[in-house]
Amino acid sequence: MQLKYHMVTIEDLVPENHFLRKLEAALDLSFVYEETAHLYSRRYGRAPIDPVVMVKYLLLVFLYGIPSERQIEVRCADSNAFRWYLGIDLDERVPDHSTISQLRRRKPAFRKVFRRLFEEVVRQCVEKGLVSGRLAVTDSTHVKANASRASKQEVDALEEVGNYWERLDAYEEEGLEELKRQTGQRRAKRTKQVKKDKRRSHKKVSSTDPESGYMKRPGKPSGFYYLSHQTTDPDHGIITAVTVTPGGVHDSRPYLEQLEYVHKSVVPLQAAAADSAYDFPLAHRALEELGIDFFVVPQPAHDRTKAELKRDAFTYNEQRDVYLCPNGKELRRKRLYRSGSGLFWEYWAEKKDCGSCPLRQKCLNETDKAGARKLQDSYFKTVVQEHFSRRWEPDYREALKQRQIWCEGTFAAQKWGHNLTRLLRRGLEAAEDHCLLSAAALNLKRMIKHSV
Ligand code: SF4
Repeated sequence: MQLKYHMVTIEDLVPENHFLRKLEAALDLSFVYEETAHLYSRRYGRAPIDPVVMVKYLLLVFLYGIPSERQIEVRCADSNAFRWYLGIDLDERVPDHSTISQLRRRKPAFRKVFRRLFEEVVRQCVEKGLVSGRLAVTDSTHVKANASRASKQEVDALEEVGNYWERLDAYEEEGLEELKRQTGQRRAKRTKQVKKDKRRSHKKVSSTDPESGYMKRPGKPSGFYYLSHQTTDPDHGIITAVTVTPGGVHDSRPYLEQLEYVHKSVVPLQAAAADSAYDFPLAHRALEELGIDFFVVPQPAHDRTKAELKRDAFTYNEQRDVYLCPNGKELRRKRLYRSGSGLFWEYWAEKKDCGSCPLRQKCLNETDKAGARKLQDSYFKTVVQEHFSRRWEPDYREALKQRQIWCEGTFAAQKWGHNLTRLLRRGLEAAEDHCLLSAAALNLKRMIKHSV
């Protein structure tokens, strides 16, 4: 083979319109120096690898869907464009792949950079007009934890109540005051939070990654997973918030906190859309208070009463706020009940009416210990009904269609090209870094596509 000498620089070897050139021009990573200054000593030790190079090195893993950190070293050594982006000349060594794991091991505080990077990309997207807040669509996807099913153990664990309970506290307070005004009765005490905090449940835990969660959902694989909960702005598909939880956490748990964050810190939201997993009554009220329209797929209604006479047999009289039973008697609002699934008004029939009623056998549940039929209504029923009365309107249907396109489409793009299928590391923090980098990589691609 005949060899030729060429006089070229690395600059000549990267095409003018290469994506990484556009990325370099668009993304200012100088904040990485501010964030990491306290982690490096100016006086002692060898000169470190530039922290910006480390961030770029990791970003390449997610931008190009490189499945392992070991492979990034090979790809960077081979690719002129990667070398150019990292600022490593043709005759220089690229950082060893183990540098990334050592960095995480020795400087755990470095991980703050990943959230800041994600937020910085979102901020730039807002600045460029790519995020309007017209609609926010939310969903979660499962990401396989680095833990085998064989590591499964059964344990008794305290149930995490999350901030859902704290939010309910305020509404319970409000409801008890309202009941006092309506009935003139002495006000009952609010349900004690501490009782709920001590609930225990039987859980499946992995001994290799105890922070992951055992997922078992219809139509989904079962095993140890994390969930990446994402809110996306459908104008240009920019992901505006990412929250990571163990795989066993219900989708609704981080929802309100995430939307509130987007509304207050990213862009004011006009509307939100989600699937039926997010249809919980508190969300309707909380979003209404924030001035956000809520378009959600309704949960199928289940009447769990064992009595033969179901709820449909009772008629609600809105003016008098009472239910009329099939025997023509009234069930009046009597108390505010708080359960694990929410806050409910209870309507009770009179014990003397039910005692002499011919329908008693068909009407009373085994649990109606007081000897009178009761019905429950969500405390947030009015606002829920108001939202669902618009269910067949074109803008409601359009919002749900947008949800499907942008949530499912974004997850598919991330899983296919940005490593959102399985985690390389263990622990919730590592899972969060992974999902944030995947979201930041996709946002950068969409930002560059739509702003050039
Ligand atoms: S049992 Fe009570 S609530 Fe049921 S139909 Fe008879 S009176 Fe009405």
